[in-house]
Amino acid sequence: MKHYNIPIFISHFGCPNACVFCNQKKINGCETDVTMKDLKKIIETYLETLPKNSKKEVAFFGGTFTGISFDLQRQYLETVHKYVKEGLVDGIRLSTRPDCINREIVEQLKRYGVTSVELGVQSLDEKVLKATARYYPVEIVTEACNLLKEYSIELGIQLMIGLPESTFESDFLTAKRALKMKPDIARIYPTLVIRGTKLEEMFKNGEYKALSIDEAIERTRKIYSLLESNGVNIVRVGLQPSEDLQEEGVILDGPFHPAFRELVETEIYYKFFCSIAKKEKRLDIKANERNISKLVGIKKANRMRLKKYFNIKIDNSIGKNEIVINGRIYSRLDILGKEINESDSN
Ligand code: SF4
Repeated sequence: MKHYNIPIFISHFGCPNACVFCNQKKINGCETDVTMKDLKKIIETYLETLPKNSKKEVAFFGGTFTGISFDLQRQYLETVHKYVKEGLVDGIRLSTRPDCINREIVEQLKRYGVTSVELGVQSLDEKVLKATARYYPVEIVTEACNLLKEYSIELGIQLMIGLPESTFESDFLTAKRALKMKPDIARIYPTLVIRGTKLEEMFKNGEYKALSIDEAIERTRKIYSLLESNGVNIVRVGLQPSEDLQEEGVILDGPFHPAFRELVETEIYYKFFCSIAKKEKRLDIKANERNISKLVGIKKANRMRLKKYFNIKIDNSIGKNEIVINGRIYSRLDILGKEINESDSN
């Protein structure tokens, strides 16, 4: 059954923090807060157009939902819960900070039908958290994740790569630590310098240097492979290229690409193909036509880089999650890399 989110952006509402990378209004493209009347109107407008036979969830994004007052959270949840009780909406999703979660809050979320909570974890390196103006210890994140798991609420995590004071190793270590919290879904965002943020100042006075696109792809590739090969559903990689974000002068620096995920996928396949070509000196690939463009890579990058060996044919008898190379079948796990899958002692 097809799934739809009914998005509700609660712009910077309730957030007293000032994380160096965040300009909430620019990221979510919304400048106003949401009243209960607005909330009902948004839901009803979506319900009129979405197919009846589909899974629909109301998604509170863009803010620190559980950072707003307890009573106001209840009002929002109560309003949506009416639609859940009537069977018009299947659940409620929201995003928040790890330090805005406690038992009382989670009990209330559960009571009103919240199905999924995404935590803006960003980093699990205390040096990075501090340099990013997120002043809480890493244990807070573990406690928040454990609570959500205890109440059987789907756990989502958002990770950022390339934050101030981060390194290749610290970003990967963050992903390994995050994996121990058993997330169900994840989003990975490379850090961008957005106009009007503290990071803009840091960038302008030389305190912060953004990752290049190649560095960002390489860091993300490892984290993405680690999470996916351990069963985490990666729902987004790279910021959504909203109109606001693409306005002239909004992104001042950083590895922004509207098809960032495809760039990462291209690199995953490239590394895999290289490992085979190195040993076997040929790449006779057969795959389902649905996978061909991914294998060839964005702008045919893999075909061009490996042109000496690259020979690809469509074979629709091959499953979506498999490819055949030089007569041998490989699964998605093979492609993601076993060495990553088996790693982790930290
Ligand atoms: S990232 Fe989240 S917690 Fe930080 S300032 Fe923005 S809305 Fe607030």
